[in-house]
Amino acid sequence: MIKSAAFVTSNTDYKKCPPANKPEFAFIGRSNVGKSSLINMLTGQKKLAKTSARPGKTQLINHFIINEKWYLVDLPGYGWAKVSKTQKAKWGPMVSDYLTHRENLACLFVLIDSRLEPQNIDIEFINWVGEQGIPMALIFTKADKQTMNKTMASVALFKRTMKNTWEDLPDMMITSAESGVGKEEVLNFIQEVMDN
Ligand code: GDP
Repeated sequence: MIKSAAFVTSNTDYKKCPPANKPEFAFIGRSNVGKSSLINMLTGQKKLAKTSARPGKTQLINHFIINEKWYLVDLPGYGWAKVSKTQKAKWGPMVSDYLTHRENLACLFVLIDSRLEPQNIDIEFINWVGEQGIPMALIFTKADKQTMNKTMASVALFKRTMKNTWEDLPDMMITSAESGVGKEEVLNFIQEVMDN
């Protein structure tokens, strides 16, 4: 249960982020995947994370404090069509430095649009996160946009694609910011990670 959620800071450098003295759960995904909507759905606050249609606007590491106990981190989306080629090619040093250095990072949630076939940029990113040994779970978003059967088929296809490179697949969850599907599952997952 999220009782309180408040913005703390925005940074471009992991070294300037709040003291790493609380467990931290970060959210990332391709732009427009529904990250802001999901964060707002999870926290029950309509405008906590800004849903933005402007490329490059949220190129910051945004910290929120939840229940005075853990940090929720909104990371920049990757894959904007309009950013420069070099920026587009990778998720950038800001995000990779944060992910590889932030010692209290308990889990990175990588968001995937449940309507799409596995996208190269997502697979590449996920593989890189796995190689770095960063704890990760996948969240398939916008489940309300299609039947649950189609969403399950999407997840199954994603699993088959990942099996080429992964022995133990990360946890996977299905959500909808519109209907609230998956809210309890994600929050319970966070609680379990914190309890362990
Ligand atoms: P972000 O760029 O990843 O933060 O994506 P946003 O949260 O801003 O969402 C991008 C677009 O998808 C917006 O038009 C949202 O209203 C829409 N959207 C996000 N999540 C959902 C969802 O679960 N269901 C539906 N139907 N639309 C969604």
